Amino acid sequence: MTRVVIIGAGVGGLGAATRLVGAGCEVTVLEAAGSIGGKLNHEALGGHAFDTGPSLMTMPFTLAETLAAADTRLEDVLELLPVEPICRYLWHDGSQLETWTDDDRTAAEMERFEHGAGQEWHALLEQGRRTWDMSLPLFLSEPVGSIVDIARRSGRPIDPRDIQAHVTLSQVARRRFRDPRLQQLIERFATYAGADPARAPGTLSVIPYTETAFGAWHPRGGMHRIAEVLRDAIVAGGGEVRTNARVARVLVENGAAVGVELADGTRIAADAVISNADASHLYTDLLEAPKEAKQVAAAPQSVSGFVLMLAIRGRTPELAHHNIWFPRDYRAEFADVFDDPQPPHDPAIYVCNPAATDPSCAPEGDESWFVLVNAPRNGPVDWDAAGPRYQERILDRLDALGLDARGRAKGIIRRTPADLERLTGAPGGAIYGTASMGPRSAFLRPRNESPAVRRLYLATGSAHPGGGVPLVLLSGKIAAELVLRDCV
Ligand SMILES: Cc1cc2nc3c(=O)[nH]c(=O)nc-3n(C[C@H](O)[C@H](O)[C@H](O)COP(=O)(O)OP(=O)(O)OC[C@H]3O[C@@H](n4cnc5c(N)ncnc54)[C@H](O)[C@@H]3O)c2cc1C
Repeated sequence: MTRVVIIGAGVGGLGAATRLVGAGCEVTVLEAAGSIGGKLNHEALGGHAFDTGPSLMTMPFTLAETLAAADTRLEDVLELLPVEPICRYLWHDGSQLETWTDDDRTAAEMERFEHGAGQEWHALLEQGRRTWDMSLPLFLSEPVGSIVDIARRSGRPIDPRDIQAHVTLSQVARRRFRDPRLQQLIERFATYAGADPARAPGTLSVIPYTETAFGAWHPRGGMHRIAEVLRDAIVAGGGEVRTNARVARVLVENGAAVGVELADGTRIAADAVISNADASHLYTDLLEAPKEAKQVAAAPQSVSGFVLMLAIRGRTPELAHHNIWFPRDYRAEFADVFDDPQPPHDPAIYVCNPAATDPSCAPEGDESWFVLVNAPRNGPVDWDAAGPRYQERILDRLDALGLDARGRAKGIIRRTPADLERLTGAPGGAIYGTASMGPRSAFLRPRNESPAVRRLYLATGSAHPGGGVPLVLLSGKIAAELVLRDCV
């Protein structure tokens, strides 16, 4: 039986483990923290439950396929609640707009802002569909080293225009819409990949298509249930998931990974090792791989996040499940995050109010808010020092929006990029590892098959194909298939 050790019980590690257990491998997942899930984690405060990371679930088929590989039916273990509207967007001038899975309805909303915008929305989604149809089989589901790999797979050269890689996301937004509010709405999708829209490839305009086509979902009980159902499938299939088990290094013999050594000195032998840890941690701390470490360090790092979790007294009917308030100057926010790192002066504010869909997240009649703003990584900003003051600034903003967060909060949990770094091992608290910025960025992410050592694979949002729960599950799929190709 092929023995596989997986470093980390984030979505990528758990997803790869689920598939390998299903394929009959002997799988051990080793997690440094006291709980599973990595960035997909949860907190509790006086009867209020919070997801600490992802709050929007898209492309649920990636989870269904992962579970199916271990003979588990998604619908048997998790109830997915549809979230409509997908998101409510609000602006300083009091205007607001909602996006829906019914694209005609969203188009009608946009038409209120700009004549012809509805048609442009339909055209954007149609372009997104074409990009998606090409990207899923050729790029997102396969190990990729270069555009040549993709061309070989597709049997013809790839024209960057087919996937909008020749323009930036900001350019896509400006070509389609004149209204600055609609431009902001499109530009925001860059943050799903941790990037600056002025540098992110226009390919990211595929995201509204995926939200519209595959829906926005909330697992009853919270997003962290995703990690739990994966863990349950692994254990039911005979695999092991250990917490408080920090890996100190990957053991290498004759150029191949042969196991790992834990921080307490225990050694675990394996035929293959998969790292779910951030690629820079793997190549800098767990292995001697200076070339790969240098490559990861040279790439631009993704955005981090500043999070407040508020245990709120009473209900807020004016809040949807997902709500975004845009700042007056969106460009200034990205400059604060990427160019001259500082706590963003006037950031877009995202408030997730899961009680709108799933009241079980709070005591009856109350709500559990997850408030997120984009933030530069820890390091360039000393977030331990800046955190308390910045919390006050965000609370001021929430109060100015009329939400009376201070008056209604029974308790607040703060998570800065420094906390995220400590809790998940992500360097600087960067959510997506390196950021997708520049036309070739998608090909510059660390590969799923380590070039440094044989039989060492990467299943993480910091590697190909990228971050966000669905893509990380695809990363786990690719890594698992490489193990089965090479080691079984
Ligand atoms: C605030 C926030 C909001 C987000 N919102 C969304 C969203 O709405 N939708 C969405 O799809 N995605 C969202 N994301 C992104 C998503 O959470 C991540 O892309 C995904 O969870 C990353 O999974 P992963 O498996 O790659 O890594 P991680 O979750 O980082 O897991 C890696 C694991 O490896 C462990 N580890 C590291 N080093 C070692 C070691 N040496 N030994 C043992 N274990 C180790 C870590 O402790 C960790 O548990 C969000 C993230 C954050 C932080």
